[in-house]
Amino acid sequence: DGAGRVLVECANVAKHFGGVRALDDVSLTIHEGEIVGLVGPNGSGKSTLVSILAGSRRPTAGRLIVEGRDVTGWPPHRVAHAGIARTYQIPRPFTSMTVRDNVAMAVMFGRTPRGLVAARAAADRPLETVGLAHLADAYPAVLNLHQRQLLEIARALAADPKVLLLDEALAGLNPVEIDNAVAVIRRVHESGVAIVIVEHLLRVVTQLATRLVVLDRGARLADGDPKTVLADPAVVRAYLGK
Ligand code: ADP
Ligand code: MG
Repeated sequence: DGAGRVLVECANVAKHFGGVRALDDVSLTIHEGEIVGLVGPNGSGKSTLVSILAGSRRPTAGRLIVEGRDVTGWPPHRVAHAGIARTYQIPRPFTSMTVRDNVAMAVMFGRTPRGLVAARAAADRPLETVGLAHLADAYPAVLNLHQRQLLEIARALAADPKVLLLDEALAGLNPVEIDNAVAVIRRVHESGVAIVIVEHLLRVVTQLATRLVVLDRGARLADGDPKTVLADPAVVRAYLGK
């Protein structure tokens, strides 16, 4: 589907928390130009896989490769500097800083570290991309859930990533907000950022994703063209509970 070169590869990744096998032998490749939809029932390992792709959790087994470099076990900020950014299911902005400064902080510690004045200037573009420029001087307390999630995306974009990992960035939104978030995600994608979107709203993922990956109980159940994957009887059984 117009997919380009390999940006990120996780190879045969496992993650165990004590006796819990959150992931078992999962492999996933993300190409330039893709929007990968990552779906699966609650507890199937989606957030754990996002954390491994972002370098914020070290896999129990397997490798994380970014643009051909083995970055397994690198500290999270170095994986971020290699070009991977993520948002969290629960946004946690710095409440004592303005919206602009929240983004400026992410610019300061991004791939090209900058001082505060330059970082504030560089915060404008991500805020425009997500449609929060008019709230740049406001404090996060006045933002609603949707706007907080957009701020999360702006902070992630401030690091100038090649791959953006969105963990349930549409959770809890109303239909109008979902449409707006989908438009924002499309805009980010069109700016040249590959995207992995974790989402339980199948209809939304299907309209965005160029490829669908299904996790079930820590294993990869399917990976391919969204229409084909959704028609797969094993996926219907596991994911839709039929
Ligand atoms: P999903 O995002 O698909 O809902 P998660 O990746 O959050 O799934 O969780 C996968 C499994 O790993 C679940 O059984 C969950 O309880 C377990 N798990 C996740 N994080 C931890 C942790 N920090 N400690 C122990 N178990 C965890
Ligand atoms: Mg999750």
